[in-house]
Amino acid sequence: MIYFIVAAVAITSIIFYYYYKPEKKVTKNVFNAEYYRGLNYLLNNKEDRAFKIFTALMDVDSSTIETHLALGGLYRKRGEFDKAILIHQNLLSRPTLEKELKNQALYELAKDFHSAGLYDRSEKIFKNLSEFDSYALSCYEELVKLYEVIKDWDKAINTINKSDSVEINNHPRDLLISHYLCEISNNHYNDSEIERAVVVTKKSLKISPMSLRPYLQLGEYYSETDVKRSLQYYTQAIQVDTDFSKYIISKIINLTKSEHNSSLVMDTIQSLSGESELPFIPGVYVYLLYEGNDTIASSYIKRYHGVSDYDDFTINCTLATVEKNDMTKIPTVDNMINSYKKIFDKGFIFLCSNCGYKSNILNWLCPSCNNWNSSKPITSFDLIERGQKNAGQ
Ligand SMILES: [Zn+2]
Repeated sequence: MIYFIVAAVAITSIIFYYYYKPEKKVTKNVFNAEYYRGLNYLLNNKEDRAFKIFTALMDVDSSTIETHLALGGLYRKRGEFDKAILIHQNLLSRPTLEKELKNQALYELAKDFHSAGLYDRSEKIFKNLSEFDSYALSCYEELVKLYEVIKDWDKAINTINKSDSVEINNHPRDLLISHYLCEISNNHYNDSEIERAVVVTKKSLKISPMSLRPYLQLGEYYSETDVKRSLQYYTQAIQVDTDFSKYIISKIINLTKSEHNSSLVMDTIQSLSGESELPFIPGVYVYLLYEGNDTIASSYIKRYHGVSDYDDFTINCTLATVEKNDMTKIPTVDNMINSYKKIFDKGFIFLCSNCGYKSNILNWLCPSCNNWNSSKPITSFDLIERGQKNAGQ
């Protein structure tokens, strides 16, 4: 009888071993397949589906750390920061968590805190983690993003200086430092500390001489005290970024508000009309024409005929506008300039070339995609021209 029981137990054990083990294996395979299916959804931005799968997996095996990390990231992306924080804190509370995984969970938690607006807590974790070599650069990048949000430009500069990387958050480090200095100088300018503003912007210019912003800021700062210098900076600004030429010309023309500037402005516009590498700028033509230099004006516009479709379109529109204005029989310079402004200078729309965000003000840091330097000024003419091009395709 005892032998029978022993034999029965042995047989049951063998059956159990051979029968259940493969079954267990199957479960694990199903689990893995599900996990990767979830990841695939996540990668393809089908977050809702990924979310369902990961939540189900959590029930099956709550000890799967990768699932926790993925789910936490998903919650953060969905804007459910409290849940993301909970998941990452839950991971961190495990006493057996390996150091590398602990750091990974901490990194994610710091990102949660940032997203939730708990900047102090986020900053503290990133700072601590940055002491590990493998985390240093990504932590510096996250810290820089954080300081941009809270507009702590000094800290942003210090953080970049700690890193030896030439690029931070996909931007050249010099360009970023130059922007931060411009932000600082702008604060001085708004506090009427013009001299300090000028000094800091010049520092910015020195660090990144091919950046447009310091030239524009210096042009602006000097516009009330030293028009000659202001015009020099604006002229350099046009050379640095011709995409801004129409916008800068409108700033130059605005300097004629004070009468004794007129001849200086005229000199500048005349010399700009001779720069062959610049695109056609309607403002230059119309200003030359109405200020009495019609010979220079017509030789300027002639030079661009047939150069490119874009220039021809703008030239035709400009000529149409000018002719229309001639018929209004109000030939005073002021009226002409004013009607010019109404047509060409209705204000500029700033369009982010990265995400398409439109704004009435120039954002050096796009509020939508957080990219620096991606907003370009466009006029209603540019929009019409683009529309025509698209319609022709
Ligand atoms: Zn953008």
